[in-house]
Amino acid sequence: MPELPEVETIVRQCRPRLVGRRIAAFNSAWPRGCRPSVAHVRRNIVGRLVHAVSRRGKFIVLELDDGGHLLIHLRMSGRFEWLDGGNGRPRHVRAAWGLDDGNRLLFCDARKFGRITYTRDLAGATADLGPEPLERCFTAARLGHLLRHRRRQLKPLLLDQTVIAGLGNIYTDEALFRAGLHPLTRSDTLRPAQIRRLHQAIRSVLRLAIRNHGTTLDWIYPGGWMQRRLMVYGRTGEPCRRCRTAIVALRVGQRGTHICPKCQRRGEE
Ligand SMILES: [Zn+2]
Repeated sequence: MPELPEVETIVRQCRPRLVGRRIAAFNSAWPRGCRPSVAHVRRNIVGRLVHAVSRRGKFIVLELDDGGHLLIHLRMSGRFEWLDGGNGRPRHVRAAWGLDDGNRLLFCDARKFGRITYTRDLAGATADLGPEPLERCFTAARLGHLLRHRRRQLKPLLLDQTVIAGLGNIYTDEALFRAGLHPLTRSDTLRPAQIRRLHQAIRSVLRLAIRNHGTTLDWIYPGGWMQRRLMVYGRTGEPCRRCRTAIVALRVGQRGTHICPKCQRRGEE
């Protein structure tokens, strides 16, 4: 599933092709994927100029010239494809935007968990999302506040989009390793130095991943190089890059979780 760095990469790639373009057509043969409905989305976006393309958590956000917004969540297997002749006939097309320059942007999604939502109230539509971890206001003090007021294990807490927006399974595991923290550690037991390390680890791993255009593990998200820089995620049985101990896979709240059992001990500094 694409996480913050992958969604940020997609946003940066499609921004120059979308901003300033007028939406000439919208079609979807996938009623469940469009909120509130395909007809409502079409009625409200066709004829509008794309003013800006940005990201909020794992959502791609298209801001239209009349103040409306289109939120696109890729979920498990969603991806954008441009239909410009070179890529044959993409599979699993669920929705298509026609632009005034003749280009067509396709939303392809094999597993159909993706969502396209039109809203006139962006703040309301994203009210449940926690802070953006790369924004300036996301300080170590703010993270400390979020951790102390919840008595939860670190891994499920960091995955919770209402606590921090944008982290998923890959970057949660990577941040916890870089901070030297075990994923089952309870959030209200962290010492100030550990909170500062976790804060630093979250931000640095996300920045590194964006510089590497995200992580490519399968055909769903192509073009990233971050998989070469991962320390624990997907490396079960391989030696830790710091101490050579074999990386171990655990299940934490139904999620596959990767740790170095030596570098990430429970209840230790
Ligand atoms: Zn290690």
